[in-house]
Amino acid sequence: MQFTFLGTSAAAPTRKRFLSSLAFRFTQNPDWLLFDCGEGAQCRLLYTRFSFAHLKHIFISHLHGDHVFGLFGLLATRDVNGITSPLNIYAPPGSQQLLETVFKQVDLNLHYTIHYHISAPGKLLLETPEAKVTSWTMKHNPECYGYLIREHDKPGRFDIEKARRENIPPGPVFADLKSGKTITLSDGRTIDGNLYTGKPITGRKVFIAGDNSDPDSLIPVIKSVDLLIHEATHLQEDRDRSEKGFQHSTALQTATAAQTAGVRNLILTHFSPRYAHRAKGVDIRDMLEEAVSVYKGNCLLAGDLHSYILNRKGELLPNPQ
Ligand SMILES: [Zn+2]
Ligand SMILES: [Zn+2]
Repeated sequence: MQFTFLGTSAAAPTRKRFLSSLAFRFTQNPDWLLFDCGEGAQCRLLYTRFSFAHLKHIFISHLHGDHVFGLFGLLATRDVNGITSPLNIYAPPGSQQLLETVFKQVDLNLHYTIHYHISAPGKLLLETPEAKVTSWTMKHNPECYGYLIREHDKPGRFDIEKARRENIPPGPVFADLKSGKTITLSDGRTIDGNLYTGKPITGRKVFIAGDNSDPDSLIPVIKSVDLLIHEATHLQEDRDRSEKGFQHSTALQTATAAQTAGVRNLILTHFSPRYAHRAKGVDIRDMLEEAVSVYKGNCLLAGDLHSYILNRKGELLPNPQ
């Protein structure tokens, strides 16, 4: 699994960070998924190997501008590039109206079809040969979702020596046994494929959260995920000093939930622009310090164009693009 951050700022861009957006794909498959599309996403894409031709699915957490204002330009450029294959957009209600209103006003007729899908709590939105993607509610206003990518479990290793020893004919029969089916051979024997395969390999789980003020509410969904990507808009000390009601999480809140849920790798993102410069004695590095004070897994701060591989063992590694 490969992840590349296209934007990692909250609310407004900074010189180093554009607005929330993340490209994801399975390493063996050129088709890819986009999670949120803040301003600047299509500009960042120019520095990656993700191509417009292979963009098939866009998941939107919610309709705040810092997560969708990049959509208009990106969808228009996909058209300019001559891509005619259909595109799927998964989002809370309103995305179709938003896009169609803008395209009408700017007189843009796309030469491809957009299929709109409405996200809802616990809803299975997409199933590919590799994985299922479901939507889960975030605590935020307006309606907001995070997306769980659950890779399919795979059958364990096929014991070909055992099959040969027992004179089971190779070919299609082996393929059936490998997938765990029970078959009847031409000599009348009934064979259970599960007796010829090792322990099933559990698929990886990744949760890509939207804006969320209550990471604890996600604990049942993110339990033991291999990777959680979640916002950490503020430092706890700034939150504690403020009288405002917050719609976002601190690094401490997110890291505490990740620790409780046994999350293996945590990437924090969606940072307030106030941490772009060292001001009043704090900056972005304090986010990491705050998070690792409570979270004992592998914790990273996202940056624009940072790219990672989550390997089959669930290890998160840098991905030189
Ligand atoms: Zn946001
Ligand atoms: Zn928001």
